[in-house]
Amino acid sequence: MSDNSLRLVWIYPDLLSTYGDQGNALVVERRARQRGLDVARLDVRSDQPIPTSGDIYLIGGGEDRPQRLAAERLRRDGGLHRAVGNGAIVFSVCAGYQILGHEFINDLGQREPGLGLLDVHSTRGEGERCVGDVLGDIDARLGLPPLTGFENHQGITHLGPTARPFANVRLGKGNGTGDGTEGAYNDTVFGTYMHGPVLARNPLIADLLLKLALDVNALPPIDDRWYEALRNERIQAAQQPA
Ligand code: GLN
Repeated sequence: MSDNSLRLVWIYPDLLSTYGDQGNALVVERRARQRGLDVARLDVRSDQPIPTSGDIYLIGGGEDRPQRLAAERLRRDGGLHRAVGNGAIVFSVCAGYQILGHEFINDLGQREPGLGLLDVHSTRGEGERCVGDVLGDIDARLGLPPLTGFENHQGITHLGPTARPFANVRLGKGNGTGDGTEGAYNDTVFGTYMHGPVLARNPLIADLLLKLALDVNALPPIDDRWYEALRNERIQAAQQPA
């Protein structure tokens, strides 16, 4: 952060932005402005270099082929590694989450190297695609209310020893390994399977990213009654017998 100005980078909107994941950039931008911050938002297309001095980087989901292209370009570019080395915060969804890990299975059925910024690797699920509503409890250390969203993925993500589960699901598949975990994170790098877009469904996650970027413990509150009503609706729907 410099001069009360937040640099928000949305990575590869041309390849990775399924299911309205672009909404995540809108939510972070708006909630930062509501706290009086200036926001410089950079939408970085896949033929452009990744800036290394951003504060928060967002990556969305994508279909299998764009996911491979994005991984190739991000590996070649190297900027995201440098940004994380500079202390940047990264929040990734689905295909973006898989790309941040050590490897995933690409559209050609081959093992595709990821960026290794999260200690996870993804395989291809042999069973049905993981599709549907998700309700979970976010890791208690992060101090956030229940997570809601929806998932749509074939990949299964396995956590290594240095990655913490982002959440545990009450409903849905999450990482798909059968252990109930959903997503992963380390200090400043986060991954989740949640679309929705997830930060519109769970705006306090956006605030967590802002707090990390600003290095503060609290932010001025925002009237979130509308979000809370939606969350409660989803929780109640999830508790209805099928
Ligand atoms: N292509 C990946 C999978 O199916 C990610 C899908 C997505 O981003 N929604 O696992």
